[in-house]
Amino acid sequence: MIKVDGKQKSMLELSMPVRFLKGVGPARARVFAELGVETVSDLLEYFPRDWEFAPEPMKIEKMKPNHTVTIIGLVESIDYQSFRRPPVFEALVSDETGVCRIIWFHGGFLRNQLRPGQVIMASGQASLYKYQLQMTNPKFLIVDERSSSQAEYFGGGVYPACSKLSSRQIKRIIRPVLDDVPELVEEFYDDGFLKKAGLISRKDAFVWIHLPSDEEKLARAKRRLKYDELFLMQLGLALRRFRVKHFSSAMSMRCGEKIDRRIRKRFPFLLTEDQDNVIDEIVADMAKREPMNRLLQGDVGSGKTVVALYAALLAVANKAQVAIMAPTEILAGQHFLSIERYLRSSRKAGANSKVKSVLMTGGLTGEKRKVLLSRIKRGEIDIVVGTVALLQKDVVFSKLGLVIIDEQHKFGVVQRAQLRKRATPHCLVMTATPIPRTLAMTAFGDLDVSVISHCPPGRVAVVTSRVDFGNRGKAYEFIREHLRAKKQAYFVYPRIANGQQDDDVRAATDGWKELAEEIFGEFSVELLHGQMSSPKKGQIMTEFRRGKINVLVTTIVVEVGVDVPNATIMVIEGADRFGLAQLHQLRGRIGRGEAKSYCFLFAGTEGETAKNRLEIMTRSNDGFEIAEHDLRLRGPGELFSTRQHGLPDLKIANIVDDYELLVMARRNAFELAWQDPMLARAEHKSIRRALLAKFGDSLGLADVA
Ligand code: ADP
Ligand code: MG
Repeated sequence: MIKVDGKQKSMLELSMPVRFLKGVGPARARVFAELGVETVSDLLEYFPRDWEFAPEPMKIEKMKPNHTVTIIGLVESIDYQSFRRPPVFEALVSDETGVCRIIWFHGGFLRNQLRPGQVIMASGQASLYKYQLQMTNPKFLIVDERSSSQAEYFGGGVYPACSKLSSRQIKRIIRPVLDDVPELVEEFYDDGFLKKAGLISRKDAFVWIHLPSDEEKLARAKRRLKYDELFLMQLGLALRRFRVKHFSSAMSMRCGEKIDRRIRKRFPFLLTEDQDNVIDEIVADMAKREPMNRLLQGDVGSGKTVVALYAALLAVANKAQVAIMAPTEILAGQHFLSIERYLRSSRKAGANSKVKSVLMTGGLTGEKRKVLLSRIKRGEIDIVVGTVALLQKDVVFSKLGLVIIDEQHKFGVVQRAQLRKRATPHCLVMTATPIPRTLAMTAFGDLDVSVISHCPPGRVAVVTSRVDFGNRGKAYEFIREHLRAKKQAYFVYPRIANGQQDDDVRAATDGWKELAEEIFGEFSVELLHGQMSSPKKGQIMTEFRRGKINVLVTTIVVEVGVDVPNATIMVIEGADRFGLAQLHQLRGRIGRGEAKSYCFLFAGTEGETAKNRLEIMTRSNDGFEIAEHDLRLRGPGELFSTRQHGLPDLKIANIVDDYELLVMARRNAFELAWQDPMLARAEHKSIRRALLAKFGDSLGLADVA
């Protein structure tokens, strides 16, 4: 602080490191950094996790001995008795109803603070001493006109602390910064909007969130800050969306009747109504110069892959190349195989085109890889299927027109952006984790969303049951019958091998031994897990697909996308260890053919909550219903984190609880983005600054400033 004209003028800036604040040195700054607080701005957004309020003041005549009370009164007289042991500072305080004696042991320091004529507020334990009411060592405050001072002293925030920095210390460091809030914090909106939206000013919100004088102020502060947080997030998404829409251009792809007929010939079935609708949306998107940016949601087995292949073939028909990315090598291999299968069978049926597709995984190296890369570069390859290996710099396409990303939640926006940067292809993202609308809107706010809600006909719902420990034998016999009838089974375990802790649930390696040697000795039982080499994994998957392996013992590597219609049994060991959405995913590996399929949930524990949680799995086959249930039970963090999607974490708002604010924020953010996409107008300056601070220049705002 420096003094200007006798007034203290703030020198703080939002971007100033906390190291320069009073009470913070290099050591404390390091502790703050561990808490995620680097700057003054971070500190202001280091919100309390709880709040305390000063008790309501009462009249002196109402004071009761042995109760904690708060009074406000006039200091009538003071007296310091230094001769007593310990020395005592005494004040007589009155209001219109009575007089109270207040004493402070070791109160010498009060001699130059308290004077007769002052009004003070005191809070502490009341007692009776020589028939007179008295307070001993109360907290007190000289009352002035500042409204916040009362809360400041008696209540205020309780901060998430750590062993090296207590909540009280944090409070003491934040408190003086709040004096500067009027200069530091900029308003985003005009008064008219604030009034209409029922929001308090941003300045008040920052003071009140740290120092609320009552519950109502706290609630209003929270509401404003939540709104701002959601608004900035949505605005970031809206601007990203706007830029893609207007500043980048993709190939416009035609889809006449002839092309459509030729593509459909490749499928040995009629497409469902849902598939047709989604294809219409995709065809319309791809006809535009504006790059498609579409999320395709559909339950496992709903037929997304077929839709994706349609889009791929449309691109190829338009002489463009296609990249298909899957999260694992197994999945990439699977996609490649099914594409090949569709292409091959259609070739026999006389469809007259030779679509060239290749599989490119991390295992491909040396000369083979070089040759492949140059063929991709020369445009001789139409469809490249692969994993993240496709993102390497030396993978260059001659004319990339479409990128298909399977299982979005395994990638995240950053990688999506990486692929898009090189050219501006159309982009189709598929996910089988059904994401409730609220979440889809938040995390994928810059995507259009298509949904396949009904599975292809002839699909029989998977029968799911929970199996107690005592009933395992029966389940094994049931499975044995099916294996004899040439059906196949998955046994899924929560982990590969058992470590030291947590040994109450069997691991895949142990389970495999037991199944192979004792329980299903007469069948071929093999192990597949993520730590095995790629060739080995590939070999086992091939044998399982061909029916040479009867029982596949595995971990969640089979979670996504694997398609073996003859596998009709799944046992999930330690089912209570999995999330419901994850269980549903797993279960989606069976029930892929016409035969009835069975899923057995072996619970690791017999606890009531675990039982109840698994109950929904036996009742419902609807991924959306299950996801909503999971969301309510475990919060959105379990489904995915916002950070994973390249968005700043939410500090105060919650997309489930604050849904209404989210909707309002989203509407306003998109409106603003379309009105002033560069946020160039003077009245949007403060929003622009806040947005840049949050997102960095990943939105491309900086370069247009
Ligand atoms: P998803 O990718 O959504 O999990 P897939 O596209 O892999 O689903 O389809 C699941 C199964 O359903 C595949 O075996 C596929 O051949 C089959 N299938 C897809 N669409 C249809 C359809 N319209 N009619 C009949 N079977 C279909
Ligand atoms: Mg699939």
